Amino acid sequence: MKVIGLIGGMSYESSADYYRIINQKVNEHFGGYASAKIILFSVDFSEIERFQRQGEWEKSALVLIDAAKKLESIGADMIALCTNTMHIVADEIQQSLYVPLIHIADATARKIRRKHISKVGLIATQYTMEMDFYVKRLKEFGLETEIPHTEDRKLINDVIFNELVYGTIKIQSKQRFIEIVEELSSRGCEGIILGCTEVGMLIKEEDTNIPLFDTTQIHCDALVQMAIR
Ligand code: GLU
Repeated sequence: MKVIGLIGGMSYESSADYYRIINQKVNEHFGGYASAKIILFSVDFSEIERFQRQGEWEKSALVLIDAAKKLESIGADMIALCTNTMHIVADEIQQSLYVPLIHIADATARKIRRKHISKVGLIATQYTMEMDFYVKRLKEFGLETEIPHTEDRKLINDVIFNELVYGTIKIQSKQRFIEIVEELSSRGCEGIILGCTEVGMLIKEEDTNIPLFDTTQIHCDALVQMAIR
């Protein structure tokens, strides 16, 4: 079994999900006492969040490249960034590595295309929804993406940064997210990408009539497939 290198801490709530989900999937595959081989490098989110707010993407890239190289040097066979937003510097990280960086948007787009869906809604941080790095990547797989309206994007971002990264789940926020999903669906989206690794904590498949693509689950699945191949 290959060793999975995780760059986590963005936030630690979703990193804990990665650790649990990857182990569960490996155990489902092999049974018995089997568990995944994982090395986790957890960064300080206060530093990364400040770089995000100040638009200092190059500084955040340096921190994440350093983490990725350390993981590689101690035996990681593949690297994953446990966040969608920081994939803004995914290409720089990949260029500094010999092992593959498993891209969260690529894994998600492949899964969606296998379902013959071509138009999706995206729920994520404002960086991921509004800057073009993510939507452009999805487009490379032939996916058309709709994002929520301005005020809804702000609400989603506020819920992520003021509630979900602290592990706080509020029923009013869940309700608002479901309304936003329904609004995107009314615009012809055939599926919704939960493009933030904490959003799956708030809304789940059974909450809506439209398929949800939880990037945390999909990313973990892609990592496990690669590890056990
Ligand atoms: N984990 C989140 C994501 O998937 C948001 C935290 C961050 O800004 O890195 O984008």
